[in-house]
Amino acid sequence: MYDDEVVIIGAGVCGLATALALQKKGIKSVITEKSETLRNDTGAAITIRPNGWRALVQLGVANILRHAAIPLQRHKVIVF
Ligand SMILES: Cc1cc2nc3c(=O)[nH]c(=O)nc-3n(C[C@H](O)[C@H](O)[C@H](O)COP(=O)(O)OP(=O)(O)OC[C@H]3O[C@@H](n4cnc5c(N)ncnc54)[C@H](O)[C@@H]3O)c2cc1C
Repeated sequence: MYDDEVVIIGAGVCGLATALALQKKGIKSVITEKSETLRNDTGAAITIRPNGWRALVQLGVANILRHAAIPLQRHKVIVF
């Protein structure tokens, strides 16, 4: 069915990041997505921890995203 080496199911952030990582290694992939539209439920923010930043560095997008990021020196989780 597909000539590409890897088939990724789902075009969420994980599917797209996987496709980019594979492309950087010279591995072709195709992404299948069942939804015909973008998801309409919006989030508020994304918290990226140090290991996440290391992944973004590897993907070559960290420097772009750092301009929009606010460094958190500490945080507190409050459970209601
Ligand atoms: C209402 C809401 C608000 C959120 N707010 C935040 C936030 O503010 N900050 C934050 O960091 N995170 C937030 N999240 C969490 C964040 O959206 C998820 O952690 C993230 O989207 C997970 O990415 P993913 O690629 O693993 O999965 P998804 O983004 O869910 O992507 C999976 C994709 O696979 C597709 N798919 C599923 N099954 C198939 C199939 N059989 N064939 C083809 N395609 C398929 C789906 O349609 C979907 O597009 C929120 C989530 C929700 C629901």
